[in-house]
Amino acid sequence: MPGILTFDALKEAVKDGSIDTVLACFPDMQGRLMGKRFHGVNFVESSFKETHCCNYLLATDLEMATPGGYAASSWAGGYGDYIMAPDLSSIRLLPWLEGTAMVLCDILDHHTHASVPHAPREMLKSQIARLKKLGFDAMMATELEFFLFEKSFDEIRKGGFANLTPISGYNEDYAILQTTKEEHVMRPIRNHLFGAGLPIENSKGEAETGQEELNIRYADALACADHHTIAKQGVKEIAWQQGHAASFLPKWHHDKVGSSSHVHQSLWKGGQPAFYDKKSDLCMSKLMQNYMAGLIHYAPDYTFFLAPYINSYKRFAKGTFAPTKTVWSVDNRTAGFRLCGDGTKGIRVECRIGGSDLNPYLAQAAMLAAGIKGIEEKMPLAPPTTGDVYEDAMAQDIPQTLRAATETLRNSIFLRAAFGDAVVDHYTRCATWEQEEFDRVVTDWEIARGFERA
Ligand code: ADP
Repeated sequence: MPGILTFDALKEAVKDGSIDTVLACFPDMQGRLMGKRFHGVNFVESSFKETHCCNYLLATDLEMATPGGYAASSWAGGYGDYIMAPDLSSIRLLPWLEGTAMVLCDILDHHTHASVPHAPREMLKSQIARLKKLGFDAMMATELEFFLFEKSFDEIRKGGFANLTPISGYNEDYAILQTTKEEHVMRPIRNHLFGAGLPIENSKGEAETGQEELNIRYADALACADHHTIAKQGVKEIAWQQGHAASFLPKWHHDKVGSSSHVHQSLWKGGQPAFYDKKSDLCMSKLMQNYMAGLIHYAPDYTFFLAPYINSYKRFAKGTFAPTKTVWSVDNRTAGFRLCGDGTKGIRVECRIGGSDLNPYLAQAAMLAAGIKGIEEKMPLAPPTTGDVYEDAMAQDIPQTLRAATETLRNSIFLRAAFGDAVVDHYTRCATWEQEEFDRVVTDWEIARGFERA
Protein backbone atom coordinates (compact mmCIF):
# COMPACT_ATOMS: atom_id res chain seq x y z
CA MET A 1 0.00 0.00 0.00
CA PRO A 2 1.21 3.55 -0.65
CA GLY A 3 2.04 5.52 2.47
CA ILE A 4 3.45 2.64 4.53
CA LEU A 5 7.05 3.38 5.49
CA THR A 6 9.84 1.17 6.77
CA PHE A 7 11.89 2.69 9.56
CA ASP A 8 14.77 3.16 7.08
CA ALA A 9 12.45 5.00 4.69
CA LEU A 10 11.30 7.24 7.55
CA LYS A 11 14.95 8.02 8.41
CA GLU A 12 15.57 8.96 4.78
CA ALA A 13 12.46 11.16 4.68
CA VAL A 14 13.52 12.94 7.87
CA LYS A 15 17.00 13.43 6.42
CA ASP A 16 15.74 14.92 3.16
CA GLY A 17 13.25 17.09 5.07
CA SER A 18 10.06 15.68 3.56
CA ILE A 19 9.00 14.50 7.04
CA ASP A 20 9.58 16.76 10.05
CA THR A 21 6.93 15.45 12.46
CA VAL A 22 6.19 11.96 13.76
CA LEU A 23 3.04 11.28 15.75
CA ALA A 24 3.52 8.45 18.27
CA CYS A 25 0.05 7.34 19.35
CA PHE A 26 -1.95 4.55 20.90
CA PRO A 27 -5.69 3.88 21.19
CA ASP A 28 -7.19 4.63 24.60
CA MET A 29 -10.22 2.88 26.14
CA GLN A 30 -12.53 4.97 23.98
CA GLY A 31 -10.55 4.09 20.82
CA ARG A 32 -9.14 7.60 20.46
CA LEU A 33 -5.55 8.21 19.45
CA MET A 34 -3.49 9.63 22.30
CA GLY A 35 0.20 10.45 22.18
CA LYS A 36 2.84 13.01 21.27
CA ARG A 37 4.08 14.87 18.21
CA PHE A 38 7.84 14.30 17.85
CA HIS A 39 10.29 16.28 15.84
CA GLY A 40 11.35 13.83 13.13
CA VAL A 41 15.05 14.05 14.05
CA ASN A 42 14.39 13.24 17.70
CA PHE A 43 12.15 10.33 16.77
CA VAL A 44 14.58 8.60 14.40
CA GLU A 45 17.58 9.22 16.69
CA SER A 46 16.13 8.11 20.01
CA SER A 47 12.39 8.13 20.67
CA PHE A 48 11.74 5.32 18.19
CA LYS A 49 12.85 2.99 21.00
CA GLU A 50 10.32 4.17 23.54
CA THR A 51 8.56 7.15 24.98
CA HIS A 52 6.32 7.58 28.03
CA CYS A 53 2.86 8.69 29.02
CA CYS A 54 0.85 9.00 32.22
CA ASN A 55 -0.92 5.76 33.06
CA TYR A 56 -4.18 7.64 33.60
CA LEU A 57 -4.63 7.56 29.81
CA LEU A 58 -6.16 4.09 30.15
CA ALA A 59 -8.46 5.15 32.99
CA THR A 60 -10.15 8.38 31.92
CA ASP A 61 -13.56 9.06 30.47
CA LEU A 62 -14.28 11.04 27.29
CA GLU A 63 -13.78 14.30 29.19
CA MET A 64 -10.45 13.19 30.72
CA ALA A 65 -11.91 12.89 34.22
CA THR A 66 -9.90 10.62 36.52
CA PRO A 67 -12.48 8.62 38.46
CA GLY A 68 -11.48 6.38 41.34
CA GLY A 69 -12.08 2.65 41.36
CA TYR A 70 -9.42 1.51 38.91
CA ALA A 71 -6.87 -0.89 40.41
CA ALA A 72 -4.33 -0.22 37.65
CA SER A 73 -4.28 3.55 37.86
CA SER A 74 -5.10 5.80 40.79
CA TRP A 75 -4.19 8.77 42.98
CA ALA A 76 -3.05 6.26 45.61
CA GLY A 77 -0.74 4.65 43.06
CA GLY A 78 0.58 8.09 42.13
CA TYR A 79 -0.52 7.95 38.46
CA GLY A 80 2.89 6.77 37.24
CA ASP A 81 4.05 6.21 33.67
CA TYR A 82 3.52 3.67 30.95
CA ILE A 83 6.05 2.98 28.24
CA MET A 84 4.81 3.70 24.73
CA ALA A 85 6.73 1.28 22.52
CA PRO A 86 6.48 2.25 18.83
CA ASP A 87 5.44 -0.63 16.58
CA LEU A 88 7.83 0.17 13.74
CA SER A 89 5.83 -1.96 11.31
CA SER A 90 3.01 0.58 11.60
CA ILE A 91 4.82 3.71 10.35
CA ARG A 92 2.77 5.55 7.72
CA LEU A 93 2.41 8.95 6.12
CA LEU A 94 -0.55 11.10 7.09
CA PRO A 95 -1.00 12.96 3.77
CA TRP A 96 -3.58 15.40 5.16
CA LEU A 97 -1.00 16.79 7.58
CA GLU A 98 2.03 18.44 6.02
CA GLY A 99 5.39 16.69 6.58
CA THR A 100 3.85 14.25 9.04
CA ALA A 101 4.14 10.52 9.65
CA MET A 102 2.56 8.40 12.40
CA VAL A 103 3.47 5.31 14.35
CA LEU A 104 1.21 3.24 16.59
CA CYS A 105 2.60 2.24 19.97
CA ASP A 106 2.08 -0.66 22.33
CA ILE A 107 1.67 0.08 26.01
CA LEU A 108 4.09 -1.55 28.46
CA ASP A 109 4.49 -1.48 32.21
CA HIS A 110 7.10 1.12 33.15
CA HIS A 111 8.93 -1.14 35.56
CA THR A 112 8.55 -4.68 34.24
CA HIS A 113 8.22 -3.88 30.52
CA ALA A 114 5.40 -6.44 30.44
CA SER A 115 2.45 -5.59 28.22
CA VAL A 116 -0.49 -3.92 29.95
CA PRO A 117 -3.41 -6.38 29.81
CA HIS A 118 -6.22 -3.80 29.64
CA ALA A 119 -4.61 -1.80 26.80
CA PRO A 120 -7.04 -2.24 23.88
CA ARG A 121 -4.38 -3.13 21.28
CA GLU A 122 -2.93 -5.71 23.68
CA MET A 123 -6.37 -7.19 24.36
CA LEU A 124 -6.90 -7.77 20.65
CA LYS A 125 -3.40 -9.19 20.18
CA SER A 126 -4.01 -11.71 22.99
CA GLN A 127 -7.17 -13.06 21.35
CA ILE A 128 -5.45 -13.19 17.95
CA ALA A 129 -2.68 -15.24 19.59
CA ARG A 130 -5.25 -17.63 21.13
CA LEU A 131 -6.83 -18.10 17.71
CA LYS A 132 -3.42 -18.68 16.14
CA LYS A 133 -2.82 -21.50 18.64
CA LEU A 134 -5.97 -23.13 17.27
CA GLY A 135 -4.47 -22.75 13.77
CA PHE A 136 -6.54 -19.84 12.46
CA ASP A 137 -6.19 -16.21 11.41
CA ALA A 138 -9.08 -13.76 11.69
CA MET A 139 -9.97 -11.42 8.83
CA MET A 140 -12.20 -8.53 9.70
CA ALA A 141 -13.76 -5.41 8.21
CA THR A 142 -15.49 -2.65 10.16
CA GLU A 143 -17.84 -0.26 8.40
CA LEU A 144 -17.67 3.35 9.57
CA GLU A 145 -20.86 5.41 9.61
CA PHE A 146 -20.91 9.03 10.70
CA PHE A 147 -22.74 12.31 10.17
CA LEU A 148 -21.33 15.42 8.54
CA PHE A 149 -22.62 18.76 9.81
CA GLU A 150 -22.66 22.16 8.17
CA LYS A 151 -20.61 23.78 10.92
CA SER A 152 -17.32 22.86 12.59
CA PHE A 153 -16.92 21.21 16.01
CA ASP A 154 -15.81 24.51 17.56
CA GLU A 155 -18.74 26.52 16.16
CA ILE A 156 -21.15 23.82 17.28
CA ARG A 157 -19.65 23.69 20.79
CA LYS A 158 -19.79 27.49 21.12
CA GLY A 159 -23.43 27.30 20.06
CA GLY A 160 -24.17 24.88 22.92
CA PHE A 161 -24.72 21.96 20.52
CA ALA A 162 -28.07 23.53 19.62
CA ASN A 163 -29.67 23.64 16.16
CA LEU A 164 -27.41 20.99 14.67
CA THR A 165 -27.70 21.07 10.89
CA PRO A 166 -26.50 18.09 8.83
CA ILE A 167 -24.60 18.83 5.64
CA SER A 168 -27.48 17.63 3.46
CA GLY A 169 -31.21 18.22 3.42
CA TYR A 170 -32.51 14.73 2.65
CA ASN A 171 -31.93 11.00 3.08
CA GLU A 172 -28.89 10.39 0.89
CA ASP A 173 -28.76 6.58 0.82
CA TYR A 174 -26.68 5.67 -2.25
CA ALA A 175 -27.50 9.15 -3.67
CA ILE A 176 -24.89 10.27 -6.18
CA LEU A 177 -26.26 13.81 -6.63
CA GLN A 178 -26.16 14.65 -2.93
CA THR A 179 -22.81 12.94 -2.35
CA THR A 180 -21.33 14.92 -5.25
CA LYS A 181 -22.15 18.01 -3.18
CA GLU A 182 -20.07 16.54 -0.34
CA GLU A 183 -17.01 15.63 -2.40
CA HIS A 184 -14.99 18.54 -0.99
CA VAL A 185 -14.96 16.52 2.24
CA MET A 186 -15.33 12.90 1.15
CA ARG A 187 -12.84 12.89 -1.73
CA PRO A 188 -9.91 14.02 0.43
CA ILE A 189 -11.06 11.54 3.08
CA ARG A 190 -10.88 8.63 0.62
CA ASN A 191 -7.67 9.78 -1.03
CA HIS A 192 -5.75 10.85 2.06
CA LEU A 193 -6.64 7.69 3.95
CA PHE A 194 -5.62 5.62 0.94
CA GLY A 195 -2.37 7.57 0.89
CA ALA A 196 -1.91 6.64 4.56
CA GLY A 197 -1.89 2.96 3.61
CA LEU A 198 -5.56 2.19 4.30
CA PRO A 199 -7.20 -0.01 1.63
CA ILE A 200 -10.22 2.23 1.13
CA GLU A 201 -12.99 0.57 -0.90
CA ASN A 202 -15.58 3.33 -1.20
CA SER A 203 -17.75 5.88 0.53
CA LYS A 204 -21.48 6.24 0.03
CA GLY A 205 -24.38 8.29 1.29
CA GLU A 206 -26.29 6.57 4.10
CA ALA A 207 -29.98 6.45 4.95
CA GLU A 208 -30.33 9.80 6.75
CA THR A 209 -29.65 13.48 6.12
CA GLY A 210 -25.90 14.08 6.24
CA GLN A 211 -25.05 10.46 6.96
CA GLU A 212 -22.01 8.85 5.35
CA GLU A 213 -20.50 5.38 5.20
CA LEU A 214 -16.83 4.59 4.62
CA ASN A 215 -15.78 1.05 3.68
CA ILE A 216 -12.28 -0.28 4.10
CA ARG A 217 -11.20 -3.61 2.60
CA TYR A 218 -10.99 -6.47 5.08
CA ALA A 219 -7.63 -7.22 6.64
CA ASP A 220 -6.20 -9.27 9.48
CA ALA A 221 -7.91 -8.33 12.73
CA LEU A 222 -5.14 -6.11 14.14
CA ALA A 223 -4.70 -4.24 10.86
CA CYS A 224 -8.47 -3.81 10.62
CA ALA A 225 -8.65 -2.21 14.08
CA ASP A 226 -5.66 0.00 13.25
CA HIS A 227 -7.32 1.04 9.98
CA HIS A 228 -10.60 1.84 11.72
CA THR A 229 -8.90 3.96 14.36
CA ILE A 230 -6.76 5.90 11.91
CA ALA A 231 -9.72 6.35 9.55
CA LYS A 232 -11.92 7.76 12.33
CA GLN A 233 -9.17 10.18 13.31
CA GLY A 234 -8.61 11.13 9.66
CA VAL A 235 -12.32 11.65 8.96
CA LYS A 236 -12.65 14.07 11.90
CA GLU A 237 -9.46 15.95 11.03
CA ILE A 238 -10.18 16.23 7.30
CA ALA A 239 -13.76 17.35 7.94
CA TRP A 240 -12.36 19.95 10.38
CA GLN A 241 -9.93 21.14 7.69
CA GLN A 242 -12.94 21.70 5.43
CA GLY A 243 -14.86 23.60 8.12
CA HIS A 244 -17.27 20.80 9.01
CA ALA A 245 -17.87 18.44 11.93
CA ALA A 246 -17.88 14.66 11.47
CA SER A 247 -19.64 12.99 14.39
CA PHE A 248 -19.48 9.32 15.35
CA LEU A 249 -22.04 9.74 18.14
CA PRO A 250 -24.39 6.84 17.38
CA LYS A 251 -27.63 8.76 17.89
CA TRP A 252 -27.41 12.54 17.63
CA HIS A 253 -31.20 12.99 17.45
CA HIS A 254 -34.03 10.70 18.55
CA ASP A 255 -35.91 11.25 15.27
CA LYS A 256 -32.89 10.39 13.13
CA VAL A 257 -31.46 7.01 12.23
CA GLY A 258 -28.34 6.11 14.23
CA SER A 259 -24.82 5.31 13.06
CA SER A 260 -23.42 1.78 13.28
CA SER A 261 -20.16 0.03 12.88
CA HIS A 262 -20.92 -3.39 11.45
CA VAL A 263 -18.11 -5.90 11.84
CA HIS A 264 -17.53 -8.54 9.13
CA GLN A 265 -15.63 -11.60 10.30
CA SER A 266 -14.11 -14.72 8.76
CA LEU A 267 -11.44 -17.20 9.83
CA TRP A 268 -8.72 -18.41 7.52
CA LYS A 269 -6.22 -21.27 7.64
CA GLY A 270 -3.05 -21.20 5.58
CA GLY A 271 -4.44 -18.38 3.42
CA GLN A 272 -7.65 -20.30 2.65
CA PRO A 273 -11.14 -19.33 3.90
CA ALA A 274 -11.93 -21.75 6.74
CA PHE A 275 -15.59 -20.67 6.96
CA TYR A 276 -16.22 -22.10 3.47
CA ASP A 277 -17.26 -25.69 2.88
CA LYS A 278 -18.84 -26.23 -0.50
CA LYS A 279 -20.51 -29.46 0.61
CA SER A 280 -22.48 -28.03 3.54
CA ASP A 281 -25.69 -26.03 3.70
CA LEU A 282 -25.12 -22.42 2.53
CA CYS A 283 -21.43 -23.46 2.29
CA MET A 284 -20.98 -22.77 6.04
CA SER A 285 -18.21 -24.96 7.47
CA LYS A 286 -18.63 -26.64 10.87
CA LEU A 287 -15.99 -24.20 12.12
CA MET A 288 -18.09 -21.25 11.02
CA GLN A 289 -21.18 -22.72 12.69
CA ASN A 290 -19.33 -23.18 16.00
CA TYR A 291 -17.79 -19.68 15.80
CA MET A 292 -21.17 -18.08 15.09
CA ALA A 293 -22.85 -20.06 17.87
CA GLY A 294 -20.33 -18.64 20.36
CA LEU A 295 -20.66 -15.16 18.90
CA ILE A 296 -24.44 -15.22 19.24
CA HIS A 297 -24.67 -16.95 22.61
CA TYR A 298 -22.25 -14.58 24.33
CA ALA A 299 -23.45 -11.35 22.70
CA PRO A 300 -25.13 -10.11 25.91
CA ASP A 301 -21.84 -10.61 27.81
CA TYR A 302 -19.87 -8.39 25.43
CA THR A 303 -22.55 -5.86 24.44
CA PHE A 304 -20.71 -3.19 26.46
CA PHE A 305 -17.79 -3.46 24.01
CA LEU A 306 -20.18 -2.78 21.11
CA ALA A 307 -22.16 -0.07 22.89
CA PRO A 308 -20.05 1.65 25.57
CA TYR A 309 -22.03 4.83 26.38
CA ILE A 310 -25.52 5.88 27.48
CA ASN A 311 -26.15 7.24 23.98
CA SER A 312 -25.18 3.93 22.35
CA TYR A 313 -28.41 2.36 23.60
CA LYS A 314 -30.60 5.06 22.06
CA ARG A 315 -29.70 3.53 18.70
CA PHE A 316 -31.35 0.18 19.35
CA ALA A 317 -34.79 1.21 18.12
CA LYS A 318 -37.27 -1.01 16.29
CA GLY A 319 -37.52 -0.50 12.53
CA THR A 320 -34.28 1.46 12.16
CA PHE A 321 -31.99 -1.37 10.98
CA ALA A 322 -30.22 -1.29 14.36
CA PRO A 323 -30.75 -4.83 15.68
CA THR A 324 -31.90 -5.73 19.17
CA LYS A 325 -31.95 -9.55 18.98
CA THR A 326 -29.12 -12.08 19.20
CA VAL A 327 -30.17 -14.26 16.31
CA TRP A 328 -28.73 -14.79 12.85
CA SER A 329 -30.27 -14.79 9.44
CA VAL A 330 -29.31 -15.03 5.81
CA ASP A 331 -28.90 -11.57 4.31
CA ASN A 332 -31.60 -10.08 6.58
CA ARG A 333 -30.77 -6.68 8.07
CA THR A 334 -33.11 -6.94 11.06
CA ALA A 335 -31.07 -9.63 12.88
CA GLY A 336 -28.04 -9.01 15.10
CA PHE A 337 -25.91 -11.29 12.93
CA ARG A 338 -26.20 -11.57 9.17
CA LEU A 339 -24.65 -14.24 6.98
CA CYS A 340 -22.96 -12.58 3.98
CA GLY A 341 -21.37 -14.09 0.90
CA ASP A 342 -23.08 -17.47 1.43
CA GLY A 343 -22.24 -19.99 -1.24
CA THR A 344 -18.95 -18.21 -2.01
CA LYS A 345 -15.42 -18.20 -0.64
CA GLY A 346 -16.20 -14.71 0.70
CA ILE A 347 -18.61 -16.26 3.22
CA ARG A 348 -18.55 -14.33 6.48
CA VAL A 349 -20.66 -13.21 9.41
CA GLU A 350 -21.53 -9.58 9.95
CA CYS A 351 -22.29 -8.42 13.49
CA ARG A 352 -24.73 -5.52 13.19
CA ILE A 353 -25.08 -4.68 16.87
CA GLY A 354 -22.14 -2.28 17.31
CA GLY A 355 -22.53 1.47 17.13
CA SER A 356 -20.22 3.97 15.43
CA ASP A 357 -18.78 4.71 18.89
CA LEU A 358 -17.32 1.25 19.45
CA ASN A 359 -13.62 0.81 20.10
CA PRO A 360 -12.66 -1.65 17.33
CA TYR A 361 -9.85 -3.27 19.35
CA LEU A 362 -12.21 -4.09 22.23
CA ALA A 363 -15.13 -5.09 20.02
CA GLN A 364 -13.00 -7.42 17.92
CA ALA A 365 -11.20 -8.88 20.94
CA ALA A 366 -14.53 -9.68 22.63
CA MET A 367 -16.04 -11.17 19.48
CA LEU A 368 -12.97 -13.30 18.80
CA ALA A 369 -13.10 -14.54 22.40
CA ALA A 370 -16.76 -15.51 21.92
CA GLY A 371 -16.04 -17.24 18.61
CA ILE A 372 -13.09 -19.11 20.12
CA LYS A 373 -15.34 -20.30 22.95
CA GLY A 374 -17.83 -21.56 20.36
CA ILE A 375 -15.05 -23.43 18.53
CA GLU A 376 -13.54 -24.90 21.70
CA GLU A 377 -16.91 -26.12 22.93
CA LYS A 378 -18.15 -27.14 19.46
CA MET A 379 -21.31 -25.15 20.14
CA PRO A 380 -24.17 -26.03 17.76
CA LEU A 381 -25.71 -23.23 15.71
CA ALA A 382 -29.49 -22.75 15.86
CA PRO A 383 -31.28 -22.48 12.49
CA PRO A 384 -31.47 -19.00 10.94
CA THR A 385 -34.43 -16.73 11.62
CA THR A 386 -36.51 -15.22 8.86
CA GLY A 387 -38.87 -12.28 8.47
CA ASP A 388 -38.97 -9.23 10.72
CA VAL A 389 -36.76 -10.21 13.65
CA TYR A 390 -37.93 -7.17 15.66
CA GLU A 391 -41.28 -8.94 16.07
CA ASP A 392 -39.78 -12.31 17.10
CA ALA A 393 -40.80 -12.63 20.77
CA MET A 394 -38.77 -15.84 21.22
CA ALA A 395 -35.45 -14.30 20.14
CA GLN A 396 -32.99 -13.31 22.88
CA ASP A 397 -32.59 -9.55 23.40
CA ILE A 398 -29.26 -7.84 23.81
CA PRO A 399 -29.08 -5.72 26.99
CA GLN A 400 -31.20 -2.62 26.34
CA THR A 401 -29.35 -0.18 28.59
CA LEU A 402 -25.80 0.55 29.67
CA ARG A 403 -26.84 -0.46 33.19
CA ALA A 404 -27.94 -3.91 31.99
CA ALA A 405 -24.87 -4.37 29.76
CA THR A 406 -22.63 -3.47 32.70
CA GLU A 407 -24.10 -6.30 34.75
CA THR A 408 -23.77 -8.87 31.95
CA LEU A 409 -20.13 -7.78 31.57
CA ARG A 410 -19.44 -7.88 35.31
CA ASN A 411 -20.98 -11.35 35.65
CA SER A 412 -19.50 -12.86 32.49
CA ILE A 413 -17.64 -16.03 33.44
CA PHE A 414 -16.62 -16.47 29.82
CA LEU A 415 -15.07 -12.98 29.50
CA ARG A 416 -13.33 -13.34 32.86
CA ALA A 417 -11.73 -16.55 31.57
CA ALA A 418 -10.80 -14.98 28.20
CA PHE A 419 -9.53 -11.56 29.37
CA GLY A 420 -8.74 -12.13 33.06
CA ASP A 421 -10.56 -10.74 36.09
CA ALA A 422 -8.47 -7.56 36.27
CA VAL A 423 -9.40 -6.58 32.71
CA VAL A 424 -13.11 -7.27 33.17
CA ASP A 425 -13.07 -5.34 36.46
CA HIS A 426 -11.30 -2.43 34.74
CA TYR A 427 -13.90 -2.12 32.00
CA THR A 428 -16.77 -2.72 34.42
CA ARG A 429 -15.50 0.34 36.30
CA CYS A 430 -15.37 2.24 33.03
CA ALA A 431 -19.03 1.35 32.47
CA THR A 432 -20.24 2.14 36.00
CA TRP A 433 -18.49 5.53 35.90
CA GLU A 434 -20.27 6.43 32.67
CA GLN A 435 -23.59 5.53 34.29
CA GLU A 436 -22.78 7.44 37.52
CA GLU A 437 -21.94 10.56 35.52
CA PHE A 438 -25.18 10.36 33.56
CA ASP A 439 -27.25 9.74 36.70
CA ARG A 440 -25.74 12.86 38.29
CA VAL A 441 -26.54 15.23 35.43
CA VAL A 442 -29.84 17.03 34.84
CA THR A 443 -30.69 16.77 31.14
CA ASP A 444 -32.38 19.23 28.77
CA TRP A 445 -35.22 16.76 28.33
CA GLU A 446 -36.12 16.79 32.04
CA ILE A 447 -36.11 20.59 32.17
CA ALA A 448 -38.29 20.99 29.08
CA ARG A 449 -40.72 18.34 30.27
CA GLY A 450 -41.10 19.33 33.86
CA PHE A 451 -40.03 22.95 34.33
CA GLU A 452 -43.57 24.29 34.09
CA ARG A 453 -45.76 21.22 34.15
CA ALA A 454 -44.33 19.08 36.95
P1 ADP B 1 -22.06 -4.61 1.54
O1 ADP B 1 -22.80 -4.75 0.28
O2 ADP B 1 -22.79 -5.07 2.76
O3 ADP B 1 -21.41 -3.26 1.73
P2 ADP B 1 -19.47 -5.62 0.76
O4 ADP B 1 -19.32 -6.73 -0.24
O5 ADP B 1 -19.12 -4.25 0.33
O6 ADP B 1 -20.92 -5.71 1.41
O7 ADP B 1 -18.57 -6.02 2.00
C1 ADP B 1 -18.65 -5.37 3.23
C2 ADP B 1 -17.33 -5.50 3.91
O8 ADP B 1 -17.01 -6.89 4.09
C3 ADP B 1 -16.18 -4.89 3.13
O9 ADP B 1 -15.46 -4.01 3.97
C4 ADP B 1 -15.33 -6.08 2.72
O10 ADP B 1 -13.95 -5.78 2.66
C5 ADP B 1 -15.63 -7.06 3.83
N1 ADP B 1 -15.35 -8.46 3.48
C6 ADP B 1 -15.45 -9.04 2.26
N2 ADP B 1 -15.07 -10.33 2.34
C7 ADP B 1 -14.72 -10.57 3.64
C8 ADP B 1 -14.26 -11.70 4.36
N3 ADP B 1 -14.06 -12.89 3.78
N4 ADP B 1 -14.02 -11.56 5.69
C9 ADP B 1 -14.22 -10.39 6.31
N5 ADP B 1 -14.66 -9.30 5.68
C10 ADP B 1 -14.92 -9.38 4.36
